[in-house]
Amino acid sequence: MKRTLTVMAVMALVLLLAACGSNNGNTGNAVETNAAANGGSSAGGDKGSVGISMPTKSSERWVGDGANMKKEFEALGYTVDLQYAEDVIENQVAQIENMITKGVKVLVVASIDGESLTDVLQKAADQNIKVIAYDRLIKNTENVSYYATFDNFKVGVLQASYIEDKLGLKDGKGPFNIELFAGSPDDNNAYFFFDGAMSVLQPYIDSGKLVVKSKQTSMEQVATLRWDGATAQSRMDNLLSANYADANVDAVLSPYDGISIGIISSLKGVGYGSADKPMPVITGQDAELASIKSIIAGEQTSTIFKDTRELAKVAVNMAESVLQGKEAEVNDTETYDNGVKVVPSYLLEPVSVDKENYKEVVVDSGYYTEDELK
Ligand code: BGC
Repeated sequence: MKRTLTVMAVMALVLLLAACGSNNGNTGNAVETNAAANGGSSAGGDKGSVGISMPTKSSERWVGDGANMKKEFEALGYTVDLQYAEDVIENQVAQIENMITKGVKVLVVASIDGESLTDVLQKAADQNIKVIAYDRLIKNTENVSYYATFDNFKVGVLQASYIEDKLGLKDGKGPFNIELFAGSPDDNNAYFFFDGAMSVLQPYIDSGKLVVKSKQTSMEQVATLRWDGATAQSRMDNLLSANYADANVDAVLSPYDGISIGIISSLKGVGYGSADKPMPVITGQDAELASIKSIIAGEQTSTIFKDTRELAKVAVNMAESVLQGKEAEVNDTETYDNGVKVVPSYLLEPVSVDKENYKEVVVDSGYYTEDELK
């Protein structure tokens, strides 16, 4: 009798623990693994579901952004539907429509094209689903509550200041040859990065200390659709063959690590990286693993670290606030006019990274381990 009671007590305890597990999201992990395998959504807790729409898995940063937010939301007891649109606008619209149909309570969206979500976000608003813009501003809609991002103008300032320092422009050195690249023209951030960079570089271009031999200096001329590394590589091939037969390029403004990799391939293809033809100063953004390795190897020169773990926290807090009908914490209510309204924003600080400080910035903060960088 005593033994039977003990067995029953143990069974009761097991059942109780299993129940607790499902409340804090532990049992959700099994579902998550299955769902992740077919690229779908996952179970979390019982506070309802959240839709996260990310642009692409082709850049590591967005994979990290999605994973970080999913973890944060699930820890709070939400179920997460995380989708990647592989840089195809129609996919993103369809994925968001599907999330609306499935009844998510809130949407967090990093747009592919900031101007193509007006209609689908109206559908969200009709169902009373609020929207947080993640890292990229969503334009031409009133249906976006908050914007979580970094100081995007400062990203460009940091990239260009790095070139300024490395070339010794402040000390009057020069003239140097430079070529300019910008990001995707359908991403509002691309303009902020480029304008920030040009605020530093333009005076040197005007004084002749920086020479853009291709003469391509406007956003229309230097933009790279969808931030595509291969597109940048072929543009760099053309720039080099048309303008640098008898001269070397000393610096390349690159807005993003994936673009820098394309530029570096092009440069190597014509012999840069040797003693008589050193690699130019090449910037980047996102501190992606391949680019930190490239910096250590002396190819790319710098990148910009944006701690996506922090950005995920900001976005999740914003989502929780709107769901609770509270105001979210913001630190900028002026900069991000989306054409319909100024979207209240929280801007995090970007950090410039090179061979000198990468350990301190990306290893000591736990973003990468030493082993990953080998
Ligand atoms: C992001 C950058 C990223 C770029 C390409 C921008 O919107 O702010 O961090 O490098 O997209 O993915």
